[in-house]
Amino acid sequence: MTDRNVPLRAVRIEPKCPTCGKPADPKYKPFCRKRCADIDLGRWLKEGYRIETDEVPGEDDAENRGDGPSGQRG
Ligand SMILES: [Zn+2]
Repeated sequence: MTDRNVPLRAVRIEPKCPTCGKPADPKYKPFCRKRCADIDLGRWLKEGYRIETDEVPGEDDAENRGDGPSGQRG
């Protein structure tokens, strides 16, 4: 992340919506609205709450392919 354009000011520490980053609403804390809360929850339920990132790590996850001379038959 190269977003370092935050001015040094005495800013009130307010919770931000983890889904979209907007100021959270006390009604739907820590989210800004119900939709965002649902989205976040949905991610959790989907599979292990994956964090989306822009840059791709050098780790390439190779899928288990049955690609080889010795084909295993189950
Ligand atoms: Zn939001």
